Amino acid sequence: MKIVNALMVSVFPLFTLLNVNGQHEAKRQNPFGNALVPDMIADASIQEINGTFYCYATTDGYDQGLKTSGPPVVWKSNDFVHWRFSGFYFPSAVGQKYWAPSKAVEANNAYYIYPTVNGFMYPAVANSPDGPFKLAKGVDSFSKTFTPATLLQSRDPKGPAGIDAEVFINDDGQPYVFWQRRFAARLNQDMVTVDTTSIIQIPTKRQGYSEGPIFFKRKGIYYYLYTLGGDERYQYAYGMSRTSPLGPFEFPDTDIIATTNYQQQIFGPGHGCVFNLPGTDDYYFAYLEYGRGSTNRQTYVNRIEFNEDGTIRPINLTLNGVGALHSLSPEKEIKVVNSNASSVRPDMIIKPNQDSLFKRTESFSSRFAFDNANGSRWMAAAGDSASWMIADLGNLQQLKRSEIAFVRPTAGHAYILEYSVNGKIWKPCGGHEDVMVKSPHTDLLNMKARYLRVKILSGINGIWEWHIY
Ligand code: CA
Repeated sequence: MKIVNALMVSVFPLFTLLNVNGQHEAKRQNPFGNALVPDMIADASIQEINGTFYCYATTDGYDQGLKTSGPPVVWKSNDFVHWRFSGFYFPSAVGQKYWAPSKAVEANNAYYIYPTVNGFMYPAVANSPDGPFKLAKGVDSFSKTFTPATLLQSRDPKGPAGIDAEVFINDDGQPYVFWQRRFAARLNQDMVTVDTTSIIQIPTKRQGYSEGPIFFKRKGIYYYLYTLGGDERYQYAYGMSRTSPLGPFEFPDTDIIATTNYQQQIFGPGHGCVFNLPGTDDYYFAYLEYGRGSTNRQTYVNRIEFNEDGTIRPINLTLNGVGALHSLSPEKEIKVVNSNASSVRPDMIIKPNQDSLFKRTESFSSRFAFDNANGSRWMAAAGDSASWMIADLGNLQQLKRSEIAFVRPTAGHAYILEYSVNGKIWKPCGGHEDVMVKSPHTDLLNMKARYLRVKILSGINGIWEWHIY
């Protein structure tokens, strides 16, 4: 012990002198943990269909506020750890403001989703949960104003618009729809029109604006979860009914189950979903986290647990994720021991609105592309028009595959992938010059190399995660 201590004393000052920047860099933490997917998404609806997890969500516009959104893409996973998407599942909705698509509900030998497009809920249908979805029969086109062809005629006194549809089919086959401002109604069997005689506004214990409703049934109890507030002050409260999906609802004493936790650095847990693993009593709560402010939200998942009497326990929110829900592939990843990049964006300091003591700093070092965390990323500096990143595997390795999850994948990327045995002579081994909308971008490899280098030709100059096999 004494020898080790003596060595550290003599070595450390020298190291500090020579590596001020490097040591400073090593202290950088990732305050955004392990988000569900490597992108900014909100309003997630997650479900398992035939052994595959599907996540439909709002793709955030990266600092654009509510003026815009990303296109409709569906993230899929076999294990709940590795997620992917390719292209658009609702082609005619690309370019619209596309939010909160809800789950894909199976009925009438088809799948229905209910996205909010330009502020109105529309029913859309497809033969497969992968799409392509199109507007349901009787709905002609997207509108900038309310028309009877949109899904719901809301009683909202502030206007006919309603957002955030959540559809639930009861055991007897009767479908229901829940939406913004605590509205609920029976949906007709066509899964498109609403039984307008059944529209109610659920009388909840907590008042004020509400959106992002979540509805599910467990052990004969119907659960209605509704948001309070918004942004950093988002919360989820709930009520439960042992009678019917439209109530009457009882509201337990401890009815707020998710709220901002400054100590844990989790801000504004908002619009998400609850899902169950079929055949189990395992339930999960997904929520958006508002920590970066504006429409830079990422989605996280934690377990939701119940007491014996059916009440929901306050959810232990963490940013760590829940790990694999199905068995992981035994395929072994190659460890990246070092990395380097053409440039690194300066740190970004993010202060919550309510208490600036709990500010967070996001750093963008290239090593954040190799930390198995979807909340951290490498970003090149602004104005870097020839960005690249190198992964150093430590020694010569036989390589099978590269998977790169770029930042803002829904806008598309083009890139060149190269390999090297010595870090001096580079040869191409993958990539594509045409812009493709997908994540991750996969290249099959069959060579020995110590280094891989990606040169980004088009798209945002950043990488959430780069996995090499
Ligand atoms: Ca990362």
